[in-house]
Amino acid sequence: MIQRLHRSDLGSSLRTLMENDPAFRPIAYFSMEVGLRESIPTYSGGLGVLAGDILKSAADLGVPMAGVTLLYRKGYFVQGFNADDWQQEKPAVWDPAQELTLLPNRISIRLQGREIQVGVWVYEIIGESGYPLPVYFLDTDFEPNHPDDRKLSWYLYGGDNRYRLCQEFVLGVGGLRVLRDLGYKNIDTFHLNEGHAGFLTLELMREMGYYDPDKIREQVVFTTHTPVPAGHDYFEYSLIDQVFPDEARSTLHRMLPDVPGVSMTELGLRYSRYVNGVAKKHAEVSNAMFKMETVDWITNGIHPATWISSGMRKLYNKNIPGWEEDPGRLVQALTIPKEDLWAAHQASKLRLFARIMETNGVQLDPDVLTLGFARRAATYKRADLLFSDMARFRKVAGNRKVQFVFAGKSHPNDNGGKALLQKIRRVARELESEIPIVFIDNYNMEIASLLTQGVDVWLNTPIRPREASGTSGMKCAMNGIMNFSILDGWWIEGWIEDVTGWSIGPVPDEKDMGASYDESLDAVDLYDKLEKKIIPTYYDDHDRWVSMMQHTIALDASFFNTHRVVREYASKAYSISFRGM
Ligand SMILES: *Cc1c(COP(=O)(O)O)cnc(C)c1O
Repeated sequence: MIQRLHRSDLGSSLRTLMENDPAFRPIAYFSMEVGLRESIPTYSGGLGVLAGDILKSAADLGVPMAGVTLLYRKGYFVQGFNADDWQQEKPAVWDPAQELTLLPNRISIRLQGREIQVGVWVYEIIGESGYPLPVYFLDTDFEPNHPDDRKLSWYLYGGDNRYRLCQEFVLGVGGLRVLRDLGYKNIDTFHLNEGHAGFLTLELMREMGYYDPDKIREQVVFTTHTPVPAGHDYFEYSLIDQVFPDEARSTLHRMLPDVPGVSMTELGLRYSRYVNGVAKKHAEVSNAMFKMETVDWITNGIHPATWISSGMRKLYNKNIPGWEEDPGRLVQALTIPKEDLWAAHQASKLRLFARIMETNGVQLDPDVLTLGFARRAATYKRADLLFSDMARFRKVAGNRKVQFVFAGKSHPNDNGGKALLQKIRRVARELESEIPIVFIDNYNMEIASLLTQGVDVWLNTPIRPREASGTSGMKCAMNGIMNFSILDGWWIEGWIEDVTGWSIGPVPDEKDMGASYDESLDAVDLYDKLEKKIIPTYYDDHDRWVSMMQHTIALDASFFNTHRVVREYASKAYSISFRGM
C-alpha cells in the first residue's frame, strides 16, 4: 500500500488508481541516473537527463508509469579547476529532504553476507494536466546498515567494480522489492533504461518460484544507449560469487551459463521481449555489434517545457496553440513572425551573456556569431577538433567574427577527458585578445539550459559512429538554434543541409564500430563550412538565417521531443494505450 505522503497529498489520485482499479497496470521505468532538475544532482549526463525528460512527458500525457533510481547523497560531483587547469572534483552537497519526501517503507536485501535495509524517497512529477508520476529514489544510508553499505547511496559512477555491482543489485532487486512494498502488484512492463537494473530479472524469477525465462522476457523491455563496448558494464562471476546471496547467484549462473562473467547488456538483450537503440544509426550499429537483427530504434527526444526559453514559449503559445500537448504542431513554425523569433532569441542570448559576465568576468558581444559546445568531456566527443589546425582556426574565426562558449565535465578517472578540458582552457587564455573563448565551469542542467537557448549555433564533433543519439542539439532545435555537427546519432535524421543546419565531414556509410574513415576530413570541413557558409549567412543574409531557425523548429523540434518518444514506446514497446495518445 502506498502510505500517505508527509509533504503533499498530490499522490492521492495515484493511490486511488492502485487501490481501486484492477486495470491499472503501470510501467516501471528503471534508470541508474535520473536528471529532473539541477537541485537534485543524481545524474551525470545524457542518460539521466533523458530518463527525467521521458518521465516528465509520460506525466504530461497521463501514461501510468513510475520511475525507479538510486539516491546519491554526494551526487556526481561539482567541477572546479586547479592552477594547472586540471579538473578537481568536490562532492555535490544537497539535502534530499529539501527536494524529496521520505516514505516509511523499508525492505531488506542481502549482499556480501549482510542484510541491508533499503529505504525510499519519492519525487512526484505533476504533468501538465495534473497527472502525478512518482519517481522513487532508493537509499541505504541510515542505521542500522553497515558503514560500507550506507555508502552505496553516496556516489553516482564512483567507486570500484564491486561498489557498482552492489549498487546495481540494490537498484534491480531492491527496486522491485520496494515497488511491491509500495503496493505495485500489477506491473505491466519493466523498462530497463540501459542495462544497470538488469538484476531485477533475478527478483522476478525468485517471485515466480520456478525457472521460466520466457515468463521473464514477456515482462521486460530494454533500451541500449551506447555503441562503445567499454560503455557496457561487465562483472566477473568470481566477483559476483563473493557478493550475491546464494539464490540470486545460482539463478544468474543458470541464466547466463558458460561465460566467465556477466555483461549487463547481454542480460538485457537475452531477457527482454523488445530491445531498442536510441537512433536509427545506433540500432544498425548495435545489431552489427551484438550480431542481431531485432534491435529496433526509437530516436531520443527532449522534454519541451523543460528546455524551451520563456520567450520562445510565449511566442509558440501565441502562434501555435496546443503545441505543448502536441509538439508535432510545431510544423507550423514557418508562421511565427521572423522579427519576433529573432527578438526572443536575442533575449536568451543576453541572458546567457549576463551569466558569463557574472561567472567568468568576460563580456561577449550579442551581435557576434556565437558557437556553443557542451557535453561530457569523453575523448571520442573530440571537444578540441576546432583547435586541430590553429593557424586555420585563427584565420577563420579571428577579427572577432566568432565567439565560443564551452562547458563539460570529465569523469573523475578519465585523464584523457581532463586533458581535453585543460587544452580548451589553455587555448582560451592564449587567444584571449583575438578570439573570445569562454569555458563555463560545472556543466549541469541549468548551464545546459542557458547554453542551448542562448548560442547561435550548436557544435558537435564526435568520432563516428560513437554518438548513440545525443540530445543537447535537440534542446537547441526546440529554441530555434541550428546544429553544425558530424553526421552521427540523431543528427543523421534531423539534418537537412542549409535548412536545419550543417553537417561536418562525409556522409556516413560505415556499418559497424570497427569501420574507420579519414577523421582529418572532419576538421577541414569544419573550417570550410564555418568560413564559407555559416559566417557569411549570419552576417550578410539575416533573412535566410531566421528562416533556417523557423525550419529548425518546424522539422526538428516537432519530432525530437519526448512526447513523441513516449508515444512510440507506448505503441511499440509497451503496447498500452493511455489518455494522451
Ligand atoms: C542534455 C544534457 C546532456 C546530454 O547532451 P549530449 O548532447 O547527449 O551530449 C548532458 N549533460 C547535461 C547536463 C545535459 O543537460
